[in-house]
Amino acid sequence: MPRHRGVYKPSQVEPYELSRFRVENFIRCPACFYMQQVEGIKFPEIPGFNINEATDVLLKRHFDRYRLLQEVPPILIEKGFANLVPFQHPNFEKWTQSLHFGAEGRMHTIVEDLNLKIGGGLDDVWRNTETDELHIVDYKSTSQKTEGREIDMFDKFKGPYRRQMDLYVWVMRSMGFKISDIGYFLYVDGDRFTRSDFIKGNLALMEFKINLIPYKVDVSWIRPALEAIRELLDSSYRPDHNSDCQHGRFLLQATAN
Ligand code: SF4
Repeated sequence: MPRHRGVYKPSQVEPYELSRFRVENFIRCPACFYMQQVEGIKFPEIPGFNINEATDVLLKRHFDRYRLLQEVPPILIEKGFANLVPFQHPNFEKWTQSLHFGAEGRMHTIVEDLNLKIGGGLDDVWRNTETDELHIVDYKSTSQKTEGREIDMFDKFKGPYRRQMDLYVWVMRSMGFKISDIGYFLYVDGDRFTRSDFIKGNLALMEFKINLIPYKVDVSWIRPALEAIRELLDSSYRPDHNSDCQHGRFLLQATAN
């Protein structure tokens, strides 16, 4: 079956593919979403976050070792979670690949009445040996600028992270898995306050503190958001610039004369 992705084509009957990134783009700014998905306007590319990507690769490699052994990783025992084991599933690797999430065996679900296919690529899944539920896990990297400050998942910048977790729980449940209401953010926090010397021989070694943060998901926003997306895709009008957006204010002022 041909896939319907990229710029929205009203005449195409296949479910329209939207990643969690696109859904987030709609939440952040419907005008932006409309320009990209309906009008096909290409936005400037943003350079990749290579260090964050590298920590993701290293974390995945670490947890894969224990996935293979089906053992609790020592860091989880250390953090008081001796009941969590990296989950093994024949499609697990496919679920981690966010590009082409719409292909067979990947992490997605089809919302039939809205004709949307929603998905993405997750970082990890851990099985709770006490409840037999699965927990969605998201790896994050940061470097806190204030010594000793706790990472707050409810600060104003973490909304997209929370919604990512909400959406992945919702998608995996739609795929038939028993997913816990509790997801985990596994943060590695580059320690800029350490007394250890950064340079050791030929290497520069950064120390990362590890935080494992449980988060109770809220999936109540998802269905209304997808309905609003459906409506916008079929609309003939681009929404106005968001008055709170500094780029929008700039554009309005720049084009006023
Ligand atoms: S400039 Fe701001 S308000 Fe306008 S489309 Fe982009 S993000 Fe939205």
